[in-house]
Amino acid sequence: MHISKPVGVLALQGAVSEQIAALEAADCRGIAVKRPEELENLSGLIIPGGESTTIGKLLERYGFLPAIREFAENKPILGTCAGMVLLAQNGLLKLMDICVKRNAFGRQRESFEAGLHIRGWDDSYPAVFIRAPYIEWAGPGVEILAEVDGHPVLARQGHLLACAFHPELTEDSRLLSRFFVPLLP
Ligand code: GLN
Repeated sequence: MHISKPVGVLALQGAVSEQIAALEAADCRGIAVKRPEELENLSGLIIPGGESTTIGKLLERYGFLPAIREFAENKPILGTCAGMVLLAQNGLLKLMDICVKRNAFGRQRESFEAGLHIRGWDDSYPAVFIRAPYIEWAGPGVEILAEVDGHPVLARQGHLLACAFHPELTEDSRLLSRFFVPLLP
């Protein structure tokens, strides 16, 4: 597939270089985005994992909020972990019709790997969770694509995607190539 414009990775805090490498593994060009004007020339955006409170403060400080909301009207966004928190109704951006619980898996399971059964996939997907949120509530327009212990951890709403785990920390590029890349214009 030929994708003319690069995919941006919001580079305020968090797992930025890993996410750019993961895009390359999925045959996309990824670039770090530090200023709102840089959103203009992108085909899609990834909001990486990190610390959602910190990323949120920096989003406000650098004036990103209106630019990301406008971007989301017709371009795909993937929020991973802290990025999922930011996309939620109880996060800063409120772009997806989901409410999340932060650090939801508790102290015993601060970080863990789980073989996920993703809807429509034959074999399981290795997902790495680090102080991960899960989805507590989702509106009718949201498709839940995977769960851990009955809690949704992967969801799609039109061209917006959110996952509670870190796809950039494994070699498996299927999450990007099957769910995110097909959304790119
Ligand atoms: N617990 C973090 C938060 O709520 C997210 C952790 C992560 O992105 N790995 O921001």
